[in-house]
Amino acid sequence: MYRKLTGFVLATMLAALLAACDKPQQPALQAAPAAQTFTLKLAETWGPNYPIFGDTTKQLAAMVDRMSGGRLKITIDSSNKHKAPFGVFDMVKAGQYDIGHSASYYWKGKDPDTLYFTNMPFSMTAPEQLAWFYHGGGMQLMEKVYARHGLLSFPGGNTGGQMGGWFRKEINSTDDLQGLKMRIPGFAGEVLARLGAKPTNIPPGELYTALERNTIDALEWVGPALDLRMGFHKIAPYYYTGWHEPSAELQFLVNKKSWDSLPPDLQEILRVAMRAAASDMYALAYHENAVNWVKMQQEFPAIQVRTFPKEVLTALKNANDELLAEFAAADPLAREIIDSQAEYLAQARAWTSISDQAYLNSMRDLQD
Ligand code: CA
Repeated sequence: MYRKLTGFVLATMLAALLAACDKPQQPALQAAPAAQTFTLKLAETWGPNYPIFGDTTKQLAAMVDRMSGGRLKITIDSSNKHKAPFGVFDMVKAGQYDIGHSASYYWKGKDPDTLYFTNMPFSMTAPEQLAWFYHGGGMQLMEKVYARHGLLSFPGGNTGGQMGGWFRKEINSTDDLQGLKMRIPGFAGEVLARLGAKPTNIPPGELYTALERNTIDALEWVGPALDLRMGFHKIAPYYYTGWHEPSAELQFLVNKKSWDSLPPDLQEILRVAMRAAASDMYALAYHENAVNWVKMQQEFPAIQVRTFPKEVLTALKNANDELLAEFAAADPLAREIIDSQAEYLAQARAWTSISDQAYLNSMRDLQD
């Protein structure tokens, strides 16, 4: 019985196979359905061809195009096109754009919990901050904040440690901060306000004019790589070292619906390309700062480099700590973020101290 059945099954299979052979020849592989192409619109806070920041968005667009074999395209509108450098959050939230390239702390007026994700005064250096984002819970906290707005946020490139800004007059005591009109965004602006200064935020394209026309007395932007070409030194020759942005991570802001509309492989391509573009920006910014710092010393001897006196830094730090306590008390999610950053900083700084800092101290001692 078994043999008979087996024979019957084999005969049936053979007949089916022969029947298949009689049909017109099929191609060896089924032709893939025509690949669907997706185009995402990106709005950046920066003007057209803005060095370093604009290189990052262009690199992102080129990478996703190549990695997806042309299935994912990104078009870029700079601020001259969309006319709203600080409207990026609203435009991406509304779906007018799919992606934004900007800085999270520009949105503190929209949602105060966004200000923790660029960087905080007296906080982490770039390696410490990147470790917090990717391995210390930072990404999850950022996701929690932006989910409220139907948005995703990813690190968008680090400037490295920033300079403290350009001042017309030296800052010798906290009295010199009274009434000082300064362009300085984020939490640092809140800190300066507590000490009697008048902080404001101004889009990058309007900074020089604002300084020239006395709308502001002082400003901070980034560092030699981007500051020198803006010409601030012609008006405000005192260039202070930093306290307010020991690192600054820009941001890729993505509309959640736009993200969800992509097939999983394109989502992964976009995710990886954003991370690669952000990582490359950190290296590029470091390089450009180093090159321009040498250039500044050689070609612009009128620039006076200063460090804030200890009295001023102590007052800033105390105001910073008071404000952190107040912000944490007012908002449970803010407390969660502030605690996470404080705990992570303590752990990471212990390692920084015995690795990078100890090395740099040793090298300095050798030169003495
Ligand atoms: Ca800055």
